[in-house]
Amino acid sequence: MDIPASVNKCIACKKRKSEQELMRVVKNKNQILVDPRGDLPGRGAYLCPDELCVNKARENKLLKKELKTDIPDDFYAEILEKIGSE
Ligand SMILES: [Zn+2]
Repeated sequence: MDIPASVNKCIACKKRKSEQELMRVVKNKNQILVDPRGDLPGRGAYLCPDELCVNKARENKLLKKELKTDIPDDFYAEILEKIGSE
């Protein structure tokens, strides 16, 4: 018996995917974090673990809009690095 996976939408390409296929970025106590297990409290946004979507989010300030906070440029470098290492 499968537990239905929750479906979320990438903020860059707007594709709907299951939570496992997306990377959750969360604003937690004024910090921006990647939430690998999807269980951190706070406002979250989803992105494909894909360079195109991450770059699109960076260029269009999508995370900033979604999480209502400034996203340091280092953070994008960090997620790009994570994606590259997978
Ligand atoms: Zn995407």
